[in-house]
Amino acid sequence: MAKEDYYALLGVDKSVSPEELKKAYRKKAVQYHPDKNPGNKEAEEMFKKVSHAYEVLSDAEKRAAYDRYGPAAFDGSAGAGRGPGGMRGGGGFHDPFDIFREVFGQQGGGGGGIFEEMFGGGGGREGGRDGADLRYDLEITLEEAARGVEKEISFRKAMTCERCDGSGAEPGSRRVTCPTCRGAGQIRRSGGIITFTQTCPTCGGAGSKIEKPCTVCHGEGRVAKNTKLNVRIPPGVDTGSRLRSSGNGEAGMAGGQAGDLYIVLSVKEHELFERQEDNLFCEIPIKFTLATLGGTIEVPTLFGKASLKIPAGTQSGTTFRLREKGMPSLRGARQGDQLVRVHVEVPQALTSEQRKLLDEFARVSGDANEPTSKSFFEKAKKFF
Ligand SMILES: [Zn+2]
Ligand SMILES: [Zn+2]
Repeated sequence: MAKEDYYALLGVDKSVSPEELKKAYRKKAVQYHPDKNPGNKEAEEMFKKVSHAYEVLSDAEKRAAYDRYGPAAFDGSAGAGRGPGGMRGGGGFHDPFDIFREVFGQQGGGGGGIFEEMFGGGGGREGGRDGADLRYDLEITLEEAARGVEKEISFRKAMTCERCDGSGAEPGSRRVTCPTCRGAGQIRRSGGIITFTQTCPTCGGAGSKIEKPCTVCHGEGRVAKNTKLNVRIPPGVDTGSRLRSSGNGEAGMAGGQAGDLYIVLSVKEHELFERQEDNLFCEIPIKFTLATLGGTIEVPTLFGKASLKIPAGTQSGTTFRLREKGMPSLRGARQGDQLVRVHVEVPQALTSEQRKLLDEFARVSGDANEPTSKSFFEKAKKFF
């Protein structure tokens, strides 16, 4: 940093008030700003100098040190700790670019971008920017989840512009050397005692920029379009399963990579089956005569009908297991089971013949209790 008079640089005298100092600085900053002086090395140098001068003079402590020791106190080579108090550790360090946001912040678009980039803005690398990942919520039936299915989905996303083939440049127009960094892709900034190099915010490090933006995408290189995609859903998915379709997210910009598409599944409730992990659970009514005498019934599964043997004397609420008739495992484990809980139905309306036969049944059964009710009545005795 040259040994210059900071007050003279800003065009003020030593007695300047902080308010006046700020005003003077703002004027100079606008005058020398790189966006206003593309390719002008002198202006850029002046921009750095006035920034540095203001950084020092706007801080009361530093201004006092400057008044005492001159610019040497703030020489770039001074290093932390050598200068007077207040310079160490960055405590109370005034951000020299802070004021620019006030100056340029309201511009909206255009050259204003430079400050977005510099203050926590997105990282454009190699001039390109990767496309965003997308999420698509897809609802499928339990049958589809069990067997797998292919679905066509349609959605809207940013796609590579066809007019400019993603370059963002109007066909026939050239790329020109970036005026901010003059092709270097990087700029040097003075942040007071530190000089740092950063990726050029105008061109994102590419060193060149578009001369005339594409009339369709306005230089972005991509446009929002409706698109369709066939998605293969593997057997065994569940609500919350995510499928990734690599590269089917939003298109990248200026050579950046496309994002991914995530398909987030939800499985509809089923009338008959309730899913518990990879097992399927269902409840089936059976006649009391079948429960008593035993027999075979047909049970629906997601993969067709299956036979289920009901042993004689089956109680209501008994659960039977149909092996590997549940959901396929996504993780390649054994297929789940189907659990069938039987519900013994008691007839509600009897014909006279049925009634006669059951009366007869009751008569020959006498007081003979079944084992379960026997133990119950034994326990219940003490309450009678
Ligand atoms: Zn275009
Ligand atoms: Zn540049």
